[in-house]
Amino acid sequence: MTPLLEIDNVTYTYPNGPTALAGVSVRIAAGSKTALVGPNGAGKSTLLLMLNGMLRPASGEVRFSGRPLAYDNRSLRDLRRRVGFVFQNPDVQIIAPTVEQDVAFGPVNLGLPPDVVRRAVRDALGYVGLRGYEKRPPHHLSGGEKKRVAIAGILAMEPAVLVFDEPTNTLDPASSEEVMELLDELASGGRTVLISTHDVELAYRWADSVILMERGRVLARGPPEEVFSDHSLLAAARLKPPALLDLYNELGLRGVIDRDVPPKSVLEFTDRIERAMHGHAPARDDPGTIYLCNADRTGGDELRALVEQGTIDHVGAMGTRAKEFANRERILLDYTYGVIDKCILKALIGENSLIITTGGMVEHVHRRIGEYSAESGRALAVTPVREPGSTGPGRESVLE
Ligand code: ADP
Repeated sequence: MTPLLEIDNVTYTYPNGPTALAGVSVRIAAGSKTALVGPNGAGKSTLLLMLNGMLRPASGEVRFSGRPLAYDNRSLRDLRRRVGFVFQNPDVQIIAPTVEQDVAFGPVNLGLPPDVVRRAVRDALGYVGLRGYEKRPPHHLSGGEKKRVAIAGILAMEPAVLVFDEPTNTLDPASSEEVMELLDELASGGRTVLISTHDVELAYRWADSVILMERGRVLARGPPEEVFSDHSLLAAARLKPPALLDLYNELGLRGVIDRDVPPKSVLEFTDRIERAMHGHAPARDDPGTIYLCNADRTGGDELRALVEQGTIDHVGAMGTRAKEFANRERILLDYTYGVIDKCILKALIGENSLIITTGGMVEHVHRRIGEYSAESGRALAVTPVREPGSTGPGRESVLE
C-alpha cells in the first residue's frame, strides 16, 4: 500500500544556517500515530514543515497520497486543507479577536458558505471541549486552552492528517495529558496523527511508530519498544530510555519477569510483576466496582449524591467536557488523566471508583475494561450510573 505521506531523501539548509536535514527518508502510513523523536535541533520541526509545503526541500521529494507536492498557491491551499499543522506556540497560530472568529478563519478562507462555517466551528469547539468560549478573546485564555483553540482551528477544515510540533511543550502535566488524550481521540476517529517531541516517555506511551532523529538524519524507525530498547542509539541521540521500558528490560535480563510484549502502563507492568511473583494473576474475590457516568445525560445532583453516599473511593474524569462538568458541579477529581487504568488498579485492590465521561468515550471505557477483563482473567464490574428518566436501577454489566 502506498504510504499517505512520503519524504524521499530530502535535504534542507536554512539561509545562513546549518544543514537542518541531511538526506531524510520517512514514510507515514494512513491512520498511524507517529512520533518524531530527537533532541533540540535534530531537524524535527524542519521535517514537519515540509509536510504541508511550508518549507520546500533543496533536494529530494515530498509526496502526499503518492503524488509529489506542487508549490503553486492553489496546490498549497489544497494540501493545507488536508494536512493540518498545529504550531508549538499557539500564539503564532491564533490571530483573530475572538475564539469563534479564529476557528472560523480556515473555513471562511476556503470560501465555504456561512452555515457550513458555523457548523464546522461549533463541531470543532465541541470536539476540543471549548463550547461556550465562542466570544472570549483567545489571548486571555490559559496555555492549554489556547492550544485547544489552535487545534479547533485546524479541525474545522477537517484535515486527513494532523501534524503537531511539540504538542505538550510549555503545558503543565494535566494540560499535556488532556492534549494527548485529544490526539488519541483524533487518531481513533481514523485520522493520521504525527507529532514531534523530545519526550521519550510520552512517545513510548502514545505512538505506534517512532522515528528517531539527530543532526538532520534519521537514526532509527520502528515500534517505540524496539527503538527505545537500544541504549546506544538513544545515547547517540542524547536521550534516555523511558523509565517503564528500562525497568522492564532490566528485570527481564535478571530473569525476574519473562520478556515478551513490553508494558505501556503502570497497570500492565504491575500485572506482569504480580504474575511473575505468584505464577498467575491472583484473583480477588471482591474487586471494587467501577461506576461509569455519562455527563451528557446525568445531572450534577444525582452524581454528588452518589459521591456523598460514601461508596465511592475515587473519582476521575475523562475528556474536557467531563472535567468542565465536574468543575461546574463542584465534584472533586482524584484523577484527570490515565483514568481508566487508575480505576482498574483500584478495583483490583477492592476499592470503588467513578469515571465521569461523555459521548463516544463511554463505549471506550466499556471496551477497555472488557479487554482488560478478558486478558487478565479477572472479571471487573462496570456499573453505569442511572440516568434521570431511565427506568429501574443502573444496568450492571459484569464483563468477562
Ligand atoms: P528540532 O525541531 O528538532 O528542535 P529544528 O528543525 O527546529 O530542530 O532545527 C534544525 C536545525 O536548523 C537547528 O540547527 C536549528 O538551529 C536550525 N534552524 C531551525 N530554524 C531555523 C531558522 N529559521 N533559521 C536558521 N536556522 C534554523
